[in-house]
Amino acid sequence: MNNPGVYEIEMVKNTFRDLIYDPQLGGGVFEDRAVKAIIPGGVSAPWFGPELLDLPLGQDEVGEKGSMLGSGSVVVLDETTCVVRAAWRITKFFSRESCGQCTPCREGSGWIERAMYRLEHGGGRMEDMDLLLDLCDNIAPGLSWPPQQTTICVLGSSIPSSVHSAIKMFPDDFKAHVLHGGCPHD
Ligand code: SF4
Repeated sequence: MNNPGVYEIEMVKNTFRDLIYDPQLGGGVFEDRAVKAIIPGGVSAPWFGPELLDLPLGQDEVGEKGSMLGSGSVVVLDETTCVVRAAWRITKFFSRESCGQCTPCREGSGWIERAMYRLEHGGGRMEDMDLLLDLCDNIAPGLSWPPQQTTICVLGSSIPSSVHSAIKMFPDDFKAHVLHGGCPHD
């Protein structure tokens, strides 16, 4: 957004579009780029596409669409964003933050992070998408929302959100990384 910051706005009466484009709030997307995806409530939240820009910013409204407002941290990924890189970096955060008590979180976050690193930096394979979805499913079985929890705390069940969203919404971006032998944005 042109005006990244902390805003206090009335729940439900405002939409993602209001938050992102209102001159008093986000002020639009940098260089008028198109919105590619929205992370509605922190990096634990499943992503939305631009078709949900007019969704009200309400817990129930966002929850019914399969995500959450969570921390209230709305992240806009514009049309130039590499979603593989974005999801890899988010997974790297979770991998580093894992305290190591639970096997799905401790091992799963590292396995996913390494597979995502490989896709982004060269060496990715077409079958990696299925592998990644399988790893995500082993951490949060069913990949439903709210997620099934196999771990002591919710950090574990938060790991799949970004990778699952990126693969589901942008499979061609993943394929392009495999065919290009790394990130085509570099
Ligand atoms: S889910 Fe929570 S308790 Fe379990 S390893 Fe991850 S951070 Fe630790």
